[in-house]
Amino acid sequence: MAVSKFLGGYGGAVYQCRICNRNTRDTGENGGVQLCPECNEASMTENAINDYGDEMTPEELAHNEAYIVKMCQDAVNKGGVISGYKKESK
Ligand SMILES: [Zn+2]
Repeated sequence: MAVSKFLGGYGGAVYQCRICNRNTRDTGENGGVQLCPECNEASMTENAINDYGDEMTPEELAHNEAYIVKMCQDAVNKGGVISGYKKESK
């Protein structure tokens, strides 16, 4: 059997998330931005607020901001480090 020099094979590149420093596997969706899935979700939501925040209702804005907090908290709970967030036990 041939030995692959690519850990985990195709699409399995591992890198550190730029936001929470967690070791993360490239799923194909988040590899380009070098973010873990949670931070990727958070940053996409933040971008949406930056781009379309003016068109959002206060409820939508609050919902999106809560979603960002939840995603960052999830990343921290899974071992990431983000300033302002503490790992919480469930
Ligand atoms: Zn992350």
